[in-house]
Amino acid sequence: MTKEMESIRNFVIIAHIDHGKSTLADRLLELTNTISKEKLVPQFLDRMSLEKRHGITIKMHPVRMLWNDYILNLIDTPGHVDFSYEVSRALAAVEGAILLVDGTQGIQAQTLSTLAAAKQHGLKIIGAINKIDLDVPDLKNKVKELAELIQVKENEISLVSAKTGEGVENLLRRLIQEVPSPAINLKASPRALIFDSQYDYYRGIIAYVRIMDGQIQKGDRFYLKASKIKGEVVDLGCFIPELKAEGKLSSGEIGWLATGLKNPDWVKVGDTIFIQDSRFKLEEIEPLLGYKEPRPMVYAGFYLANSEQGFDNFRQALLKLKLNDYALSFTPENSEILGRGYRLGFLGVLHLKIVQERLKEEYNLDLIVTNPTVSYKVWLRNQKEPVVINNPIEWPKSEEILKVEEPWAKIEIITPSQYLSNILKLINRSRGANIQTKMMIDRLLITCELPLEETIKNFYDNLKSVSSGYASMDYEMLDYREAQLERLEVVLAGKKFESLSKIVIREQVDVEARDLALKLKELLPRENYPIPIQVITFSRIIARETLPALKKDVTGYLYGGDRTRKMKLWKKQKKGKKKLLKKANLQIPSDVFLKLFSKG
Ligand code: GDP
Ligand code: MG
Repeated sequence: MTKEMESIRNFVIIAHIDHGKSTLADRLLELTNTISKEKLVPQFLDRMSLEKRHGITIKMHPVRMLWNDYILNLIDTPGHVDFSYEVSRALAAVEGAILLVDGTQGIQAQTLSTLAAAKQHGLKIIGAINKIDLDVPDLKNKVKELAELIQVKENEISLVSAKTGEGVENLLRRLIQEVPSPAINLKASPRALIFDSQYDYYRGIIAYVRIMDGQIQKGDRFYLKASKIKGEVVDLGCFIPELKAEGKLSSGEIGWLATGLKNPDWVKVGDTIFIQDSRFKLEEIEPLLGYKEPRPMVYAGFYLANSEQGFDNFRQALLKLKLNDYALSFTPENSEILGRGYRLGFLGVLHLKIVQERLKEEYNLDLIVTNPTVSYKVWLRNQKEPVVINNPIEWPKSEEILKVEEPWAKIEIITPSQYLSNILKLINRSRGANIQTKMMIDRLLITCELPLEETIKNFYDNLKSVSSGYASMDYEMLDYREAQLERLEVVLAGKKFESLSKIVIREQVDVEARDLALKLKELLPRENYPIPIQVITFSRIIARETLPALKKDVTGYLYGGDRTRKMKLWKKQKKGKKKLLKKANLQIPSDVFLKLFSKG
């Protein structure tokens, strides 16, 4: 083993959003002179502004730092379990992790799952409490809590301030001393793990790789195991943090590899790159980790708020987004109310929110999101395999259904103990099961199981509100379990509006139907004639309301300014009689959707 190989340290920083990961990275860049102080803007490695707000999908740029003859490679993990697969690939590429906890906040639930994954990968974990420049209440307890969590002595927890730099050099020295250098195997057939990727117009997709065995050089012929695609290494090198060409990468190193491939579906995170080498048979080389296709769990319809934005722009935006959000899926769908749109599939609720925000911020698209649903398994008579339903419109007729299953999630909540009873009530209201509580040093860890459906409603917001913002939560997918479900459909003035359909649990059919009817009565604009609102489930009317006709003064209920709207209504009244005959063409304004689906 050469000196150079012993000197590599590959690591990640695990931290909850806002606990100081990016700021700590800044200090490391500065300390190692990777970026000069003058050039260093705060959160230097953050690629996009969204990263600052969410700290998830959009990750920090990897970087190689040189310090005292050591090579330090820092890569990033998405901070949320929606992306647990990507987290696990990043963890598989390194030997150590700094677990950074904001002293003023303490450990948050979302950090637990990443930590558990890091332990599973056998990483050396170094615990650090950040923000000690602030007045940290109960610092001693915070240290104790973290020490207990990673099973070390209290004096093995580093105290740092990523802001002032206090304790950071010490932390770096610990990292070098305690994190093992990577296992080096130069003689084996060359293999590398793809832990991330980026689209480059000229050089094709750039795979971010950890070289496990052998050596890879520019011009080598490669083979991608999962996608079964061959190609030639256009270029490769390390991150400084810009992409610097190096000509070759060796076992133990982290770097980038330009594939020349243009189809994002071919370069998959988690796949193994083999290099063709006359000494080895391709078929005999083992892939590094089993590659898994991402599986969407939550679906929602996305429609343009106004059609002037152009359906083609929308399509292009989705295609581009998919280039660096591999897990996103989409298929066209139509709504009788909203026109042409797409049904998008997501890894989880948070993934949905991020995509919605990116479409708005990066592509200027104003979108309406309709009825988010989970993915159900429905067994039909005369069929062996279940059909997967993620759109209420596709729900089969009840007489055809044998059995339905819905996905469940395991929830972890960390909270100060005074909110326990509020939180238990919330869990019970949300069909929670198997509730357990465990004392941490001065807080509680609550675990339970919930139907995923409940978590995509307002569970997170409700948790925040019943705990005055102090509780944090995380979830992971568990399994599918049998459920009694029915579809509610909406009939307005005798016409069925499919895009207002909703899947609900049987016990709540009455409550949900009444609620839906009342909401529609409140939200729908009045017409010159009364509109009967019916909520039905397989042809049985469950709830009925009537939206009264407009009064004589048609504009009475519109207070103040909206002149054009008033003009429209006056005009409408004139045509009233005609309209009466055209009941069937009832229009539903798109903002009704926003209000109907924005809350639970
Ligand atoms: P990240 O989301 O984990 O990447 O967190 P950031 O590095 O973006 O930090 C979140 C906020 O905490 C920013 O406003 C930072 O300036 C602040 N911050 C980070 N580290 C410290 C620290 O040690 N002390 C203080 N006072 N603030 C800090
Ligand atoms: Mg950050």
